[in-house]
Amino acid sequence: MTVKTFKQGVFLPHYKKYSEDQPITTIDLPNEVVIPLHQHIGAPCQALVRAGDRVKTGQKIGESAAFVSAAIHASVDGTVTAVEPRPYFTGTNVESVVIEVDPEQKEPVWPEQDLSSLDKDAIKAAIKEAGIVGMGGAAFPTHVKLSASKPIDAVIINACECEPFLTCDHRLLIEATAALVEGARLIRKVVDAPRVYFGVETNKADGIAALKQAIKDDETMEVVMLDVKYPQGSEKQLIKAVMDREVPPGKLPLDVGAIVQNVSTAIAIYEACRYKKPLYERVLTLSGDAAARPGNIRVRVGTPIGHIIEQCGGFKGASGEEARLNKLVGKIIMGGPMTGWAQSRLDIPIVKGTSGILIFSPAMVAKTEHRACVRCGRCVEHCPMFLYPSHIGMYAENGRYDSAVEWGAMDCFECGICVYVCPSNRPIVKFVRETKRHVAAARAAKAK
Ligand code: SF4
Ligand code: SF4
Repeated sequence: MTVKTFKQGVFLPHYKKYSEDQPITTIDLPNEVVIPLHQHIGAPCQALVRAGDRVKTGQKIGESAAFVSAAIHASVDGTVTAVEPRPYFTGTNVESVVIEVDPEQKEPVWPEQDLSSLDKDAIKAAIKEAGIVGMGGAAFPTHVKLSASKPIDAVIINACECEPFLTCDHRLLIEATAALVEGARLIRKVVDAPRVYFGVETNKADGIAALKQAIKDDETMEVVMLDVKYPQGSEKQLIKAVMDREVPPGKLPLDVGAIVQNVSTAIAIYEACRYKKPLYERVLTLSGDAAARPGNIRVRVGTPIGHIIEQCGGFKGASGEEARLNKLVGKIIMGGPMTGWAQSRLDIPIVKGTSGILIFSPAMVAKTEHRACVRCGRCVEHCPMFLYPSHIGMYAENGRYDSAVEWGAMDCFECGICVYVCPSNRPIVKFVRETKRHVAAARAAKAK
């Protein structure tokens, strides 16, 4: 069995056992959903509704005339109570559509379409109309990514799910294999790629078996087994492992003839083309040592994380407020433990790119203050982008953002490895994010 990988990175404990064997379930709807109008890379959407409007599940409620943007849809039947800024998982406030959920919900009907009649423009149009973005966390609009004007040799379906704890894509590999394969075929049709690779880490044996069975008669598709190493699912590392091609700094996968889409996104593409179903719900993983009932759950966009936690049994050993007061919960993270965002409130809504909600006990969370760099070199040794994280952190910490950029801050994709290996607990990703914010603000000021 050939197992491929990339250089550097780290071997992390998987912590997948909490939820990997839990089939996908649904939960009750909350009383209210809060749907941000800017949950993607690109231009924010303008609201198409206002307070008092009645909306149906799947109805478009936000869009933008900009090419790089993604339409937003209602995730429930209900009444719009406000269009106003609401707290967002990154710590800012984002203009959002607030919907009071009807107690009676009509299950939407999505009539089947004939996939063979769709040409590449029709597929792209369906993807755009459905508001699909990269669901691995990047949230880049998919119709933009698939509008590459360069020749593409291969589509890579990213089924690595390399961050610890997350298992939703693993479950989809097993439970929605046919939809995933059809989604991959649609992507290939759009970009005219001769081959499709499914990159899967070897810790998903049942997923690998399901995929192999599903594509056994298609010689243009292949399952590539990958080492269980972080960040194997990052685009550049995945392309290196699967195709042995290097994406140079500042370049994109399409510059080396590759397009990467993750499992959830490929399935959303299938559903958009087959049923004209907009992206208003997703599967995510609820896990962590302080989660009472870890699992993989289908959730409507805009659902508050507190509601999801409560529906899954709450915090281990205590109810919500009690858990916080008694300090039973050390940290709540939206996303994976390496790239996710810590949350301090339970009313934050999940968005299209939310792959997980993780609840950790205080014992799982390091609380030591960061210290000065001791120049051990571990961050340099492990950085998958071959950067000097120590230098980036040092310069950014002192406000010397230009020097941080010179040392590659803009090439950092915030995988968190340098933070994980650092004996001085240096918050390098925080420094990188500060640098990127500074650069974006400087560019915006220059453009005025
Ligand atoms: S500098 Fe960026 S890419 Fe390199 S290890 Fe740190 S977070 Fe990852
Ligand atoms: S791992 Fe931490 S202490 Fe070591 S060189 Fe990097 S920033 Fe400095």
